[in-house]
Amino acid sequence: MRWARWSWGGRFHLGTVSPSGDEVTPRVAERHVSDMAAVIASLAGGGPVPEPTGARLPLSAVTLTAPLARPARNLFCIGRNYRAHAEELATTVFRDTVARADGWPIVFTKVPETVVGPHDPVRLPGAAASEQIDYEAELAVVIGRGGRDIPRSRALAHVFGYTVVNDVSARDVQVRHQQWHLGKSFDTFCPMGPWIVTADELDGTDTRVRCWVTSGGHTELRQDGRTRDLIFDIPTLVETCSRGITLQPGDVIATGTPSGVGMGFQPPRWLGRGDVVRIEIDGLGAIENRFE
Ligand code: MG
Repeated sequence: MRWARWSWGGRFHLGTVSPSGDEVTPRVAERHVSDMAAVIASLAGGGPVPEPTGARLPLSAVTLTAPLARPARNLFCIGRNYRAHAEELATTVFRDTVARADGWPIVFTKVPETVVGPHDPVRLPGAAASEQIDYEAELAVVIGRGGRDIPRSRALAHVFGYTVVNDVSARDVQVRHQQWHLGKSFDTFCPMGPWIVTADELDGTDTRVRCWVTSGGHTELRQDGRTRDLIFDIPTLVETCSRGITLQPGDVIATGTPSGVGMGFQPPRWLGRGDVVRIEIDGLGAIENRFE
């Protein structure tokens, strides 16, 4: 199934998207609509799919929000997790933080307040804060059943589904502070959506991730990768993030980005006002955000 959150008629709604992708059906009473995590916890625990609470609507009539509009806590994010991406940064200031396949993943976080909808604008923070804004197309894992010390062998049973994120990054701020947290956590720096596809409908371990940038009226495919090329695969990431930390339903793990980020070009190609970034993942859908 595909689970989405949207606004319509001055209210927020939470429910399912039809297989055709043309219609949405509200399934959760309005007082609970902010809490996709509660729905995930119920479904992951074997609970029934809630009955419709209202009429079906054309998708074109509603405004999608992020499916997890405000995650309960920071998003787990993985750095340098595609070989080609690690290689494109090998001559940059990040050359010393390339993950090794025989080592441990790089893990950092973004604050929950970064999350915006699949078509919302991303706010450029201003030159005083950063002049090096970059995109990162990523498949994000949404945890279903929680747990601690989850072994690789059982990790996929804890995955509720997948969504698309843009791990927007301020490169100069990442470098300036050594730790990446500030440079990854500016307001609006995590477009998410268009919905969550449940793990029974999408094999997140092998799907295609693409990113287009439109700048000055010209659209260019910048990133084109497959999640089978992750250095640390999804079961390993769940195992890693749950080691000594109890994962909760609705937790998000962004799995890393393929090669083709702006920083990898010579000279770098930073995002500017009016640029549009579109990220599409096969079997999932697309998000598209204007930088303002
Ligand atoms: Mg990233």
